[in-house]
Amino acid sequence: MDTTGAVPPADAIQLFNGRDLSNWTTPDGGKPEWKVKDGVIHVVPRTGDIVLTESLTDFYLHIEFRCPDLPEATGQQKGNSGIFLHGLYEVQVLDSYGINIPGKGDCGAFYEQFAPLVNACKPPMTWQTYDITFRAPRLADSGDVVEKPRATIFLNGSIIQNNIQLLGPTGSASKIAVVSSGPLRLQDHKDLVCYRNIWAVPLPLEGSDIYDPR
Ligand code: MG
Repeated sequence: MDTTGAVPPADAIQLFNGRDLSNWTTPDGGKPEWKVKDGVIHVVPRTGDIVLTESLTDFYLHIEFRCPDLPEATGQQKGNSGIFLHGLYEVQVLDSYGINIPGKGDCGAFYEQFAPLVNACKPPMTWQTYDITFRAPRLADSGDVVEKPRATIFLNGSIIQNNIQLLGPTGSASKIAVVSSGPLRLQDHKDLVCYRNIWAVPLPLEGSDIYDPR
């Protein structure tokens, strides 16, 4: 199922208005220097990550991204960015097109924790879609994690993470305290990655107990 250009359902929150970054900040609360043009967010390398002003708990996220074509680059230098759920758990964005067996650093990985099940990447300069469901960690009043976060990810319509349980915050975020609700953070990894059509549907924290036999 190709979700490119998916229209947000009525209960979705628009996370990017297509015009500006008015609901995004720098990590320390300043005005981001990333550019918006024709409904597309462009990373401006070396200006830092951007962070959503809204916090999300459990949610479904749709986001589209495009990696630059860097034929000479390899590994983590090849069109790198990332989508940090709760600002802590990086879903890798990278040009991993054509890699036979993608690893824990490749596109679709939870960085350094879980490699994608298959390589569903499209070529660089092609728009790609992530459709993600995220179940936030459950914390005790003490702040201790009672249940770790879980996620399922579709990349370009193929399932690449199936309800995995995260070990904790990934990579550079591993020393940051876990939260029960948090923003998205998009990574500046010095590459000209673009994003568009970003929205989320907040999900109830428990299943419904209504039985309707129709
Ligand atoms: Mg990254």
